[in-house]
Amino acid sequence: MKVLVIGGGAREHALCRSLSLDPDVTALHCAPGNAGIAEVAELHGVNALDGQAVAELAAGLEADLVVVGPEAPLVAGVADAVRDRGIPVFGPSAQAAQLEGSKAFAKDVMAAAAVPTARSYVCTTPEEIDAALDAFGAPYVVKDDGLAAGKGVVVTEDVEAARAHALACDRVVIEEFLDGPEVSLFAVTDGETVVPLQPAQDFKRAYDGDQGPNTGGMGAYSPLPWADPKLVDEVMATVLQPTVDELRRRGTPFSGLLYAGLAITSRGVRVIEFNARFGDPETQVVLARLKTPLAGLLHAAATGTLATFPPLRWSDGAAVTVVIASHNYPDTPRTGDPIDGLADVVAEDAPKAYVLHAGTKRDDSGAVLSAGGRVLSVTATGSDLTTARQRAYRAVGRISLDGSQHRTDIAAKVADEAAGA
Ligand code: AMP
Repeated sequence: MKVLVIGGGAREHALCRSLSLDPDVTALHCAPGNAGIAEVAELHGVNALDGQAVAELAAGLEADLVVVGPEAPLVAGVADAVRDRGIPVFGPSAQAAQLEGSKAFAKDVMAAAAVPTARSYVCTTPEEIDAALDAFGAPYVVKDDGLAAGKGVVVTEDVEAARAHALACDRVVIEEFLDGPEVSLFAVTDGETVVPLQPAQDFKRAYDGDQGPNTGGMGAYSPLPWADPKLVDEVMATVLQPTVDELRRRGTPFSGLLYAGLAITSRGVRVIEFNARFGDPETQVVLARLKTPLAGLLHAAATGTLATFPPLRWSDGAAVTVVIASHNYPDTPRTGDPIDGLADVVAEDAPKAYVLHAGTKRDDSGAVLSAGGRVLSVTATGSDLTTARQRAYRAVGRISLDGSQHRTDIAAKVADEAAGA
């Protein structure tokens, strides 16, 4: 199978790594990729948001499967352009990707499918905004209706801050605050059959102890020893299958990766949000534990044959990923700093720990430089969370990037609890 992956973050590096380990994959391409992906795939300098250019590239490569990583190309219709060429693509249509692209659309689908989520109002006027803020009280949850790269959501005790954010958006969803731990559950679907992956948890705040600003994600782990063993079955029955069924009923079937961001509240599981693609950094830990070869699974989703796909196989062990971010992330990340120690991780820690690249590039001399906010995702596996996190942090310690930051407490509490400490 010849596979083309679209995107250039650590999620795409994780996808490319798994695909490169799949014996069915005979050629692996990525656009635009990054310095790490270049070690396992051939890179192409094509604009990931340009559907025609991506379709052209896929046709030229005679790709058997295109995997679209990030949300922006999906919402821009890149999967549609590839599908129109008759090439199997893993990723939803622009219409189905509205599940992520519009919070109001997602709420409408959930209401129609009776999926449990926070009560909410969609507001466009100052009067509606004030009424909604009043109705729910503090803490206030205010979400920009459109795609905002994780920056559209404000959760605050301060009514003025909530109001100011709401007024700055054209259309805004104001909703009830959901208390309780968050879980990310991914499912692969062909629009009809839904195959859940294993749950993971990510760490969104920049600093230790869940302090500081929200980020794209500073680390993740899987499995979740504290979660109810029936959680996946419950979410399949109450969230994933009804949502996929509702989108098919509307004539806009969702095929690709359906990501449910969930809150485990005292009143039960509630959907916080849907995403239309693999999450970053949870993908790094979920794929680290998936034993089923990835290409066949994604191809089955892309070709509508998941119903006959064999059950997924998982490692019993654990995986932890720690994100190394650049100086001043998430505000004004500095780029262009040299990264050292990558070869030491390969020499000392592989294959149980490895470095997935996010914002990196090579300069003319071949040196690897930082090129974005989140720079590296250091991922490790082990028989349990304690072992996996020790391996991940040992590898983090070998890497130097001037001014970089990372959290030191990824999976610390849960590993201690699981070990009975
Ligand atoms: P979203 O983009 O919808 O995932 O929101 C980003 C983050 O804001 C989530 O991961 C939660 O931590 C938080 N959040 C969103 N909605 C709620 C809610 N209704 N109650 C509490 N926290 C929320």
